[in-house]
Amino acid sequence: MTREKELNALHEIIHSCRLCPLHETRTNAVPGEGPINAQLFFIGEAPGAQEDDTGKPFVGRSGKLLISMIEEIGLSREDVFISSILNCRPPKNRTPKLSEIELCRPYVEKQIELINPRIIVLLGRVAIYSIVGPWKVTESHGRFFEAKGRTYFMTFHPAAALRSSSVKDLMRADFRILQSELL
Ligand code: SF4
Repeated sequence: MTREKELNALHEIIHSCRLCPLHETRTNAVPGEGPINAQLFFIGEAPGAQEDDTGKPFVGRSGKLLISMIEEIGLSREDVFISSILNCRPPKNRTPKLSEIELCRPYVEKQIELINPRIIVLLGRVAIYSIVGPWKVTESHGRFFEAKGRTYFMTFHPAAALRSSSVKDLMRADFRILQSELL
């Protein structure tokens, strides 16, 4: 089976997943999307209302900001893979529970294995915590981190940047660091 077919099969499994209680309240699971050969792999926290409605990742206000920052560094949405720690929306966008993270994380880990990206960009506290450990985003943003043969880059979640112009400026500066690594 090709990697692309394996990825499609994984996404079919996610669409019908019932491992955690979030399947009871979701409209659509949101497995993430992007090209099989993506160099950059972005990981957010969980779908929001618009993502739940459409089944597509990062299509709400946070997503629009993220895509604009991706475009500012010379790439487009079609160039990168975008996923989340959870594939189903927590009610009222509450913070994911540890039990949900533990059950859902293998899906994003499998996506990473199939895509084999050059850099994995962790967006915000939940993504950083879930993948590399309890680092504070305020201390770790703008930094690369090597672990288990992979390169991670840590920055803020775009939802935090929407709430604070100073966080937005810091996130933009982080993306310039990311861009310089890609040159
Ligand atoms: S959040 Fe993840 S583990 Fe829970 S039902 Fe959705 S896909 Fe399955």
